[in-house]
Amino acid sequence: MDEQRPKVVIIGGGFGGLFCARRLGRVGVDVTLLDRAACHVFQPLLYQCATGTLSIGQISRSLREELSEHRNVTTLLGEAVRLDVEQRRVTARRPDDSTFELDYDYLVIAAGMRQSYFGNEDFAAWAPGMKTLDDALSIRRRLFAAFEIAETLPPGPERDQWLTFAVTGAGPTGVELAGQIRELATRALANEFHSIEPQDARVLLFDGGDRVLKSFAPALSERASRVLEDLGVELHFGVHVSDVRRDGITVKPKGAGESRDYATRTVLWTAGVEAVPFARHAAEMLGATTDRSGRIAVDEDLSVPQHPEVFVIGDLAGRDGLPGVAENAMQGGLHAAASIRRDLAGSRRKKFRYRDLGSAAYISRGHALLQAGPVKLTGALGWLGWGFIHIAFLTGVRNRFSTVGTWMATIARANRSDRTFILGGSGHPEEPYTWESPVHQGNRSGDKPASGHTA
Ligand SMILES: Cc1cc2nc3c(=O)[nH]c(=O)nc-3n(C[C@H](O)[C@H](O)[C@H](O)COP(=O)(O)OP(=O)(O)OC[C@H]3O[C@@H](n4cnc5c(N)ncnc54)[C@H](O)[C@@H]3O)c2cc1C
Repeated sequence: MDEQRPKVVIIGGGFGGLFCARRLGRVGVDVTLLDRAACHVFQPLLYQCATGTLSIGQISRSLREELSEHRNVTTLLGEAVRLDVEQRRVTARRPDDSTFELDYDYLVIAAGMRQSYFGNEDFAAWAPGMKTLDDALSIRRRLFAAFEIAETLPPGPERDQWLTFAVTGAGPTGVELAGQIRELATRALANEFHSIEPQDARVLLFDGGDRVLKSFAPALSERASRVLEDLGVELHFGVHVSDVRRDGITVKPKGAGESRDYATRTVLWTAGVEAVPFARHAAEMLGATTDRSGRIAVDEDLSVPQHPEVFVIGDLAGRDGLPGVAENAMQGGLHAAASIRRDLAGSRRKKFRYRDLGSAAYISRGHALLQAGPVKLTGALGWLGWGFIHIAFLTGVRNRFSTVGTWMATIARANRSDRTFILGGSGHPEEPYTWESPVHQGNRSGDKPASGHTA
């Protein structure tokens, strides 16, 4: 590292941070890319990993490998925990809880958002969100284990509980998950069980609004609803979830009306997002304003007011018209890098102009929505467009080839090649499930084992 060269610290190796680091490669600065997971995750395909189509390796790539050609870019594993604005210093925590410090001349905050439970943090114990690889693997474990547990139970309410899946939030992630669970039940798992009929699995999708996929044109979301209903997803609109527990969920109508309980052992949460904890701390240190979800207000060039040396990009950037999508993060990353280069060249920074290149959402096999300006595609055409876009932006050539190969195989045959799940080790109250050996379980939560079977 050259002591004379400006130091750029980028926090987060998602779409924003990765594109910024790539653009600064071979520029006269020393870049440190800090990420708490050390890999870039292609979040739009997390649901395929959760439902057994793709492996975690296919939708992620080590940042070190991805950026190895850029000699001026160092990638580090660590979680940013403190910001000293005066000293221009970030404190990062290693996984063993020790810390180290990084000095910067420029700071790019690209740490993204995490799942929000709207103040009901206790829901998280029973209802995993879907933002990280850990979340995807946790959901995979719950989905496939639920069918396995149901297979060991006699017909009755307990078995039905395991075969009922509740998904909260009818945005793209909720729709994708709900559709995939029904597809899993009716195709890949359909003929594999002896006691249960996987096709009987109920999938309930809850949302506070009045339609699925609100960011799409009404006609497209209407089409998506029909496809989901044909698939067997039960849609419940105008409700909010008032309780989530080990064996069920309670939903309340937004207007007048009675609350309703649904017995289920699997609740998946995609309903909201909020800033990661470091972002809230950074905003406070920078004297920046935030919105309710914790997005940090930024100037026209994506820098923090009064702090031209600090940029906030991607999902965390709080400015009208900037959506929480990958394209905004990628363009923001490129823009922050361009602004740094302009500073070094002594030219004026430009305003950030987000170019909406459209959006796509997968619904089920052969059905996806694609909306780009006046172009609105559904059905098989939308599906092809969706596939093309996702492959184009997936990180790593090897991942692209292997994902296309896996998709072909999945289309040709109903099976899913990445169904393996691992039990234990997470310390999460619902993982491993209550049927963990009673000797080892020590009856942690005081609950009875889920069934009379002692496997
Ligand atoms: C399930 C799902 C499906 C999606 N589908 C689509 C889609 O189809 N199309 C679309 O355009 N968008 C989609 N999105 C949204 C898109 O993925 C995000 O808009 C995009 O990832 C935002 O990029 P980002 O760089 O701001 O943050 P992220 O990609 O979230 O990256 C943040 C990075 O910061 C790291 N990090 C967090 N905190 C710290 C810390 N304190 N210290 C160090 N590192 C930290 C994380 O490990 C992560 O690598 C989807 C999102 C999800 C969750």
